[in-house]
Amino acid sequence: MSSEAACIFCKIIKGQIPSFKIVETATCYSFLDIEPIAKGHVLVIPKYHGAKLHNIPDEYLKDILPVTKKIAKALDLDIDGLEGPGYNILQNNGSIAHQVVDHVHFHLIPKRDSETGLI
Ligand code: 5GP
Ligand code: ZN
Repeated sequence: MSSEAACIFCKIIKGQIPSFKIVETATCYSFLDIEPIAKGHVLVIPKYHGAKLHNIPDEYLKDILPVTKKIAKALDLDIDGLEGPGYNILQNNGSIAHQVVDHVHFHLIPKRDSETGLI
């Protein structure tokens, strides 16, 4: 597990590495993924360094879903119907589960007709 000092996402939260910010609250931060699987691929992260979901105190998770919902709505991903665009929310824990960055992050991956994804 990487240390907080070496963590890319902690550096993004602190503004030490640039990111395209989408929404920020007191406890979470969201930004565009640097290698998007689809247009509008966003990462939502707690402002707390921990590799896996169970390492994160609840108070740092409370804004994650409301913020993710807000972004999905802003991206106009048709959250009301089964037809048309949609999205996947993905959260990997551990390298065996394909986690690469050791700071908890939720992927919001838009799914549109014109785009095929890995999921
Ligand atoms: P994981 O496989 O750990 O669930 O996903 C890590 C994600 O972080 C990948 O989709 C990758 O593109 C993204 N990522 C890695 N480094 C950076 C970075 O420096 N900036 C941004 N915006 N995204 C990053
Ligand atoms: Zn971190």
